[in-house]
This record gives sequence, C-alpha cells and structure tokens, in this order.
Amino acid sequence: MFTAAIEILDARFKALVLGNVHLEKLHTGCRWSEGPAYFPAGRYLLWSDIPNNRILRYDECDGSVSVFREPANNTNGHTVDLEGRLVSCEHGGRCVSRTEHNGKRTVLADRWEGKKLNSPNDVVVKSDGSIWFSDPTYGIDSHYEGDAAESEIGASHVFRIDPARGTLEAVATDFVKPNGLAFSPDESLLYVADTGNTHVEDGPRHIRRFKLSSNGRKLRGGEEFATCEIGLFDGFRCDTQGHLWTSAGDGVHCYHPDGTLLGKIKVPEVVANVQFGGQKRNRLYICGTTSLYSIYLRAHGVSHPR
Ligand code: MG
Repeated sequence: MFTAAIEILDARFKALVLGNVHLEKLHTGCRWSEGPAYFPAGRYLLWSDIPNNRILRYDECDGSVSVFREPANNTNGHTVDLEGRLVSCEHGGRCVSRTEHNGKRTVLADRWEGKKLNSPNDVVVKSDGSIWFSDPTYGIDSHYEGDAAESEIGASHVFRIDPARGTLEAVATDFVKPNGLAFSPDESLLYVADTGNTHVEDGPRHIRRFKLSSNGRKLRGGEEFATCEIGLFDGFRCDTQGHLWTSAGDGVHCYHPDGTLLGKIKVPEVVANVQFGGQKRNRLYICGTTSLYSIYLRAHGVSHPR
C-alpha cells in the first residue's frame, strides 16, 4: 500500500501519510539546499543554496525552477511574515532581513548588546508579529557558506525581535548550536534543535521543547524532546495536529507530540529542512543537500505561514 519512501514505525503514522504516493525529485544541482519558504499567493517555494550564494524559486504551477536572487548574502533559513513578506537569515550579512513589498531589503537585527550576531540560521514568525531566530556560528566558521570571522558574542543564542519596538532580546542562552525552530499550532510550545554535536564531541543532537510564558514573550523549561539517531535534526515544521516533521540524516522523521517517532519519509540524501506547501498545504517540500524533493501527505501544515 505504501511506497518505499514511507517507513511506518508506529501505527498512528498511517493516518498521516498516503498510499501510492512517491517521493518526487523536483530539482538537483545545488550544493546545500536549506531554508524553504512557501508563498501561497504566488504558489511558489523559495529556498537557499547556501554555498552557491543564491536563492532558488520552484514554481508549483508549471514545475519550473529559476534563480530568485544571486548573490544572496549566503541566506540560510527563510520564512514568510504575517504580511506575506520574505524574512531571511543571512550568513553573509550576519543579520535577519526582510524583503519589503517594494523589493527593498530591511535589516531587522544584526547586533545584540552592541556585538555583531554570528550568522542567523533559521527563523519563525509568531502570530503577534514577533520574529524568533537561532544564531549559531556555522556561517562564520569558514568561507564556505559565508565569511569566516570570530564570534563577537562568544556564544550561540536564540533571539526574539519585538514587533512593536524592533528590539532584540535573547530568549535562550544555554545552547551549544541552536538551529531549526518551530511553534506548536497553538503557539504554547516552541521546539528548538541543538546541533552542537558538530562542534563538541558527544555534544547535543536533539530537539528541546519550551513552554511560552503567559505573555508569549519568554521561554520556560526546555527539556529534551527527541534525540536524532541518524545524522542531526536541522530544520522542521509542525502540522495542524502538532506532529513534528523534522530533517535527519536519512530523510524526514515524524514525531508525535508525546515524543514517539511515528515514522519516516526516506530520502536518498541528507535532509536539512522541510516546509508545507501546495494549495491545501498537504505537500511537504524537502531540502536534501543537492536537491529539492516533495511528497504529498494526509497531514497539513498550518495555514499561517510560519
Ligand atoms: Mg538550519
């Protein structure tokens, strides 16, 4: 019933996937695909090819792929804000930026307490307009996916940009290398990956789960939610029921909110990030190293574009 790409580990996964659907390879030729963002109004997906310093665009209507922006300040993670604007994590610019409706670029955050950010990696927008992002050092560790530099902050934090004041505050400061992040559908929880294993022997390769404070501005808790057994968790998204669809070394892993690994979408390349798209938000786009893939699911992404 299910094709080879789908691996059922818990019977509950059967309700989230479809029979007779295949993993589709939509494009290849990238060096490191990351940062998918879906634009419902235009029915296209943007994603980063970080070492090639470009943003690509997949047109869902005719299947074509084109260069959206090059050079692109080595952008990594992307999202779409409440007004439909592109929000980008820039390794090259060491900032989070927004592309305005008139095409101009606005830097939203590039310093914290007077020090340059490291290299913002992944970003989400909350329904109150606040922008949450991770700031590990991958974009300044070498010249491969940005410009090599010393960290001025000397640590890697998770930050929040206040929507009214535009101010930047650190909301989690106990990570080795914070990476992907996503809110639960009701925004009561925030999941954040730590890929510190890249820099610290036996370092973290897990996703932590935080509770948001009653005013929605601060984080509490932060216990380990899931550990990656194959590769690392990088970027991920939640579906409308709160299941977490996360990148891993052998494809996409799907977790129930209770922490159970329900199943996998097997992908023949290391996966860095995913995003729900399609007119019904039931098409999972998958950034897998050199390629862009997709697969249709029974699960749906939240309609708010985070
Ligand atoms: Mg990432």
